[in-house]
Amino acid sequence: MTVGVWILGDRLSLKQAALQSYKQKDGLPVIFIESLNHVKVRPYHKQKLVLVWSAMRHFAAELRENGYSVSYEIAEDFATPLQAWVKENQITELRVTEPTDQPFLQTIQNLNLPCKVTFIPDNHFLWSKEEFKNWAQGRKRLLMEDFYREGRKRFQILMENDKPIGGKWNLDKENRKPPKGKLNTPPAKWFEPDEITQEVIKHCRDIACNISTYGEIENFRWGVTRTQALQVLDWFLENRLAGFGPYQDAMVTGEDTMWHAMLSPYLNLGLLQPLEVIQAAEKAYHQNQLPLNSVEGFIRQILGWREYMHGIYHYTCADYPEKNWFNHTKPLPELFWNGETKMNCLHQILTQVQRTGYAHHIQRLMVLSNFSLIAGFSPQEVENWFHAAFIDAYDWVMQTNVIGMGLFADGGILASKPYASSANYVNKMSDYCKSCSYNHKERIGEKACPFNFFYWDFLHRHRPKLQTQGRMSFILKNLDKMSAEELQTIQNQAENWHFSATKT
Ligand code: FAD
Repeated sequence: MTVGVWILGDRLSLKQAALQSYKQKDGLPVIFIESLNHVKVRPYHKQKLVLVWSAMRHFAAELRENGYSVSYEIAEDFATPLQAWVKENQITELRVTEPTDQPFLQTIQNLNLPCKVTFIPDNHFLWSKEEFKNWAQGRKRLLMEDFYREGRKRFQILMENDKPIGGKWNLDKENRKPPKGKLNTPPAKWFEPDEITQEVIKHCRDIACNISTYGEIENFRWGVTRTQALQVLDWFLENRLAGFGPYQDAMVTGEDTMWHAMLSPYLNLGLLQPLEVIQAAEKAYHQNQLPLNSVEGFIRQILGWREYMHGIYHYTCADYPEKNWFNHTKPLPELFWNGETKMNCLHQILTQVQRTGYAHHIQRLMVLSNFSLIAGFSPQEVENWFHAAFIDAYDWVMQTNVIGMGLFADGGILASKPYASSANYVNKMSDYCKSCSYNHKERIGEKACPFNFFYWDFLHRHRPKLQTQGRMSFILKNLDKMSAEELQTIQNQAENWHFSATKT
């Protein structure tokens, strides 16, 4: 029997399951493939292509140094180089770490390979899909908070025996400060592209005319190796973690990353493991007496949200990507692709994403997807855009965050109420409204912020459905206070608003 391992682009770790499944590394044939057809299936941010391909090329070099027999193919499709490599190396069993993304699992299953293909269960998440299923089965509600507490106990994170350190599981009340005055945000950790990355940048420029892409390739400054990912982690622990909590939800013009970790691209590629990040944060808490609200808030993102999203992705039905609870069918307007709009919040965030492939959680949730939800864009078109625009986008994290959390298109499997808000929230949590052509206080008229008329129109349009969501009743009462005349004007304005006539 001759075993060979195919390394997929998001499992770039010596600890990944397929590599770990075979004890003898010396001379073990491994293959990496950059497929052009694969990146033609949907558009990607140019920096995402550079990140993934450069990280793959760096990891291939690392495996070579470690004694593996590495083949690196740049090809049209996956099947042709795989078939040739299997034949050449007389491979009888191809091992692959089971892909998290279900569409890619199918792609592999449909390849016609002349050898046995074995999927080795993924070890990249703290909870396997079976463990999550065991937790979820029989529960009335799949509450993230319950799951997170279970994780704290199971992995003994921030615990004193069976009690949470500090006496509370969740300190979020201390973490919702609006941005006021001058915030001394710490700089971000970026890297100059090395020779390999520069080659990939050139390659991406060369193929750009054959594929559909998004965003800018200039100023690519992401890390592409485990060493660099660890440097970003250290940088975060030393410079950002202490301040992570209070302004976690704040948005400030010119501040792309605030105190956020910027670790999702590295976690999602396998350059970092979730438990090492969580344990490093916990260690920093004890060693440096960091504020508990910041450390707990950060750990909850990974031990709670990230694991929960992964679990839900596998737990829900195959039709989850098609879900559309509100029957929203409006096409996504062009402004999402070009950033040209008079709405300053959208303009700031969309141009930031073009430049970096990154936006922090509240920018994604409370501006981009909130607006898409209340304006009634098709969830599938929105998901397609998010997948194209973000440096850290993968199917497992897109379906749950966009279809579920952002758009409530799953009807509440994941969130207990839609994340819908008017301009009031954006104004409270950001400085965007100060420099906007629209007035955040006005609900109707030429100057009215579209967040306002779309919000009230959304509540009115979907009242029967929203009434079934217990947490919405207070908000719906506010709708009752509105005069019939104003409501009618709001509906008209929402219906007739021209997305195309809104350039900066
Ligand atoms: P921090 O705010 O510093 O958080 C630390 C880590 O927690 C992140 O690196 C991430 O690994 C994890 N995390 C936090 N929240 C989530 C979550 N809801 N789901 C999964 N992981 C989480 N995350 C992605 O990794 N890829 C995506 O494509 C993505 N798209 C999103 C789209 C929408 C509409 C929303 C609402 C959220 C999305 N998220 C996505 C989740 C979250 O916004 C990002 O993980 C986070 O902003 C990444 O930046 P950071 O590393 O600086 O995160």
